[in-house]
Amino acid sequence: MDNEGQNSHTDWLPTNFKICTSSEEYITGIVSSEEELKHLLESHKRASGTSYTVWSDDSHKKQKVTPRCLWKVEDYSEHVPLSVKRRVIYACQHGKNYKKTPTTDDLYTEHEYTRRKRFHIQNSKKVDCPAKLYVRYVVRYDQFAVTKTSSRTERQVAIKGVLESLKEKTTVTSEIIHVKIPLEGAHKNHNTSQNCHFSNNIHYMVRDKIQEYVSLGITSVPFLKKVLKTFVQKELSEMGSVLPHPQDPSYYPSSHVIQNHVHQALVCGKYSGFDQLQVEKN
Ligand SMILES: [Zn+2]
Repeated sequence: MDNEGQNSHTDWLPTNFKICTSSEEYITGIVSSEEELKHLLESHKRASGTSYTVWSDDSHKKQKVTPRCLWKVEDYSEHVPLSVKRRVIYACQHGKNYKKTPTTDDLYTEHEYTRRKRFHIQNSKKVDCPAKLYVRYVVRYDQFAVTKTSSRTERQVAIKGVLESLKEKTTVTSEIIHVKIPLEGAHKNHNTSQNCHFSNNIHYMVRDKIQEYVSLGITSVPFLKKVLKTFVQKELSEMGSVLPHPQDPSYYPSSHVIQNHVHQALVCGKYSGFDQLQVEKN
């Protein structure tokens, strides 16, 4: 594993991402913490302009008493027994549509504001793009590491050692996160190039910020637009190695989108007793 062979497709990668393999379609590697994963995914989103939704997450699955021990997880292997604790798969926002009510992009290419439009907050065209992003939380049983040339028997002994130590609760482990990231070549049936790559989904931290302000009783759209801009330029820009694109609507939502989210926050019933929503046209 090394960071050589990087090209313009991957120069956005944070330095703490250790590459396992890379191709035109995917790049795989490891990070060592949830924080590093967050930065990696954030940088990926900014550099590629693609966003993903959770496809599956097995964290609610009942944990097995004896984990399945492996020497290799995907393309990651360091002669240490491993087991996969959790696997999360994200699908490209242009992947299969499982929602009953398909939404379209032209909801935001708006002309006139109508009441009905308010409720369409999520939207993206589904075109069956197969690109998926895989995150695997891997446990390393470090005390049972073997050498590169160790025999089959030696490895079997090591695995037995893992299982025994688990029974006795004396296992010493560390964790890494293996990530498989789709690159441009993995996307099908839609454009990922600049200018048409922006997601219409608002960035979750921007959305949370709106909710935070609404919970304080602040619902003025022009005011929110101003403070959100500052928030993205100051706090959000410190995350990741790539700056959000100044025209990316997921970071810089339009007044209309902000208003939708203010409305949503109020309608959700979380916050009541505030002044009437201040309707501001773009
Ligand atoms: Zn795609």
